[in-house]
Amino acid sequence: MNHQFHQTMFLAFLFFGIILTTTSAQEHSAKISAQGYAAMTAGRHFVPYEFERRAVGESDVLIEILYAGICHTDLHQVMEDWRKGIFPMVPGHEIVGRVAQTGKNVQSVKVGDYAGVGCMVHSCGECEQCRKHEEQYCPQTVWTYNSLDTNGTPSQGGYSDKIVVDENFVVKIPENVPLERIAPLFCAGITTYSPLRYNNVKAGDNVAVAGFGGLGDMAVQYAIAMGAKVTVFDVNESKRQSAMDLGAVKFVNVRNENELIGLNSSFDLMISTIPTRYDVGMYLRMLKVDGTVVLLGMPPGDQTPMIPAMSLMGRRKVYASLIGGMKETREMLEFSVRNKIYPHVEIIPIQKLDEAFQNLAEGKALFRYVIDMKSLDDKNRDL
Ligand SMILES: [Zn+2]
Ligand SMILES: [Zn+2]
Repeated sequence: MNHQFHQTMFLAFLFFGIILTTTSAQEHSAKISAQGYAAMTAGRHFVPYEFERRAVGESDVLIEILYAGICHTDLHQVMEDWRKGIFPMVPGHEIVGRVAQTGKNVQSVKVGDYAGVGCMVHSCGECEQCRKHEEQYCPQTVWTYNSLDTNGTPSQGGYSDKIVVDENFVVKIPENVPLERIAPLFCAGITTYSPLRYNNVKAGDNVAVAGFGGLGDMAVQYAIAMGAKVTVFDVNESKRQSAMDLGAVKFVNVRNENELIGLNSSFDLMISTIPTRYDVGMYLRMLKVDGTVVLLGMPPGDQTPMIPAMSLMGRRKVYASLIGGMKETREMLEFSVRNKIYPHVEIIPIQKLDEAFQNLAEGKALFRYVIDMKSLDDKNRDL
């Protein structure tokens, strides 16, 4: 009897132990249920969408998203302007949130930290570009959304409540910073910061910024903080005052021919954010010998600008640039916080996505839209 009792207890413990072990193993590999807003087909219409994130792996970070910026690229992706999209599509690659869980190998952030994620979530880690910390040019980069993850499932972006990302693509954000204005730095910030650094902009350089929208706003602020004398080109007279207020030395309204006189051979570097067909040759002629025009705006294929070969004479160069690597993204964040360089933003609830995209498409957005993710819980919000 006694023996039988012990045997029963032993079996009971064994059974209980198995349940415990199984539960913790399941917890470890449990997929994360997420909710957000998705475009179900190509177009500018978003609906609430529930989906799964992968389980938090040993090198992964689970982030509860607080803010997500809306980038012009998001509009191009849902509209399939550049290539066919993967739907349902949850866009968003300007992500800021709080770390909720970390895998056992994660060292750079801990639970409770603020953290950000930008345009990419994975690269091979071994190729020449990865070794140079330029993961954005790795042939195996996984983009934050509208891309296939290493396990073949579509990646989904920041218009959602949670994201699971490899530690290498997570950036720790310091305390006491305006999180809603930090979010767009992970795309608009690094996109403009990187070419200024690559071209070693320094005090006294003559830098031009063509196109004074969201990217132009950031480029002007960074270049001024690096000590450059900045001239802004735009076609919209109403932007003159804000360019001068930021500290530009000159604003040129390209529609006014008189303002273009005497500008040839005067700039070391020109950052162009113009997203439509325009006269690149005119800007190239404004460069000094060995000057460079960097193209950041990507016009649709049928609006690609022509570049007259003669305008390149004098070893003038033109190239296009894509975001920046993760090391440089961390440096950009540190530089932005130290110099208080942030974009102007308008906070919106997620239920207003359709309206925001309509405004983006019509060029009516005055500032960078940033989604406040708290609004996701607000099922009955009055639209
Ligand atoms: Zn972007
Ligand atoms: Zn690589």
